[in-house]
Amino acid sequence: YPARLGDRIAPLIGALPGEVLVCDSTSIDLFKLASAVALQRGTRRKIVTELGNFPTDLYILRGLAQLVPELDVVAVPREQLSAAIDQNTLLVVLTHVHYRTAEMYDLKAMTAHVHSVGARIIWDLSHSIGALPVDLSAAEVDFAIGCTYKYLNGGPGAPGFLYVRRDLQATLQPVLSGWLGDARPFDFLDEYMPAPGIDRHRCGTPPVLAYAALEGALDAFDGVDVESVRRKSIELASLFIALVEDLPQASSLQLVSPRNSARRGSHLSFAHADAGAVMQRLIKRGVIGDFRAPDLLRFGLTPLYLRFVDVWDAVQILGEELD
Ligand SMILES: *Cc1c(COP(=O)(O)O)cnc(C)c1O
Repeated sequence: YPARLGDRIAPLIGALPGEVLVCDSTSIDLFKLASAVALQRGTRRKIVTELGNFPTDLYILRGLAQLVPELDVVAVPREQLSAAIDQNTLLVVLTHVHYRTAEMYDLKAMTAHVHSVGARIIWDLSHSIGALPVDLSAAEVDFAIGCTYKYLNGGPGAPGFLYVRRDLQATLQPVLSGWLGDARPFDFLDEYMPAPGIDRHRCGTPPVLAYAALEGALDAFDGVDVESVRRKSIELASLFIALVEDLPQASSLQLVSPRNSARRGSHLSFAHADAGAVMQRLIKRGVIGDFRAPDLLRFGLTPLYLRFVDVWDAVQILGEELD
């Protein structure tokens, strides 16, 4: 499953066969890749990431720095990232589509900037995969991670994935060197020898039932062109925004996602003074979004499953509950 499902999701992110492994969770996959990069740190000391990034990304990196005290985790606001990425930077860790605002990086330009100072990048694709086209190969991305339970709908507990560009695979030595990442696990040898290719990032026994559910979810993507998924996502979002702004109560809601769809992923967030209570009421009526403290209503638009009439109904109900 780990390699076979990896090859199935690879086309969704512009990866080649043998570059993606489905395993563990996003958090653990981040630790696995960041710690393996840390082994290659040479004289570089800095890991740069964004303040306000999804918390696990910050927490995992800081945990790694406790283990490797020479490493310095520098978390800065988005506007200060370019300046923070310098010749002392080993690694940059960024989330392509922001979990709160849906603001999206120019993945290719940022990757090129990171490479221009000789650093590596790990992209977190949790809010990208299955919702919009990503072309890791074209951008020459080093590493990526993500989950399969958001837009891929793999279900609760669905495993994460990691991507390692092919030319980096042979020298990237796993720190979590579990037996299933060994070249010959069933020889039960005393000395670990990493498996060739992406398989070395396997760790322990995989949760087979969770993979089986994910495989079923991936069937929905067979023959689906991600560009058309993206087009529908943008149309759903445009309709959602237009209908919200037509509500009599529109002035109590403020769109915090970028209005320009080219700079936005596939969810929409609106600020509202009483967002927690409003979302509770929406969920009771079957409109299942998220409340993100302190004041955000977040609506995920999964293009393969959601219809335009669902958007229409959801905004109608939002208006009624605001009343
Ligand atoms: C959802 C999400 C995660 C989740 O990490 P898990 O280890 O799968 O719980 C990580 N990063 C980002 C950016 C996310 O949005």
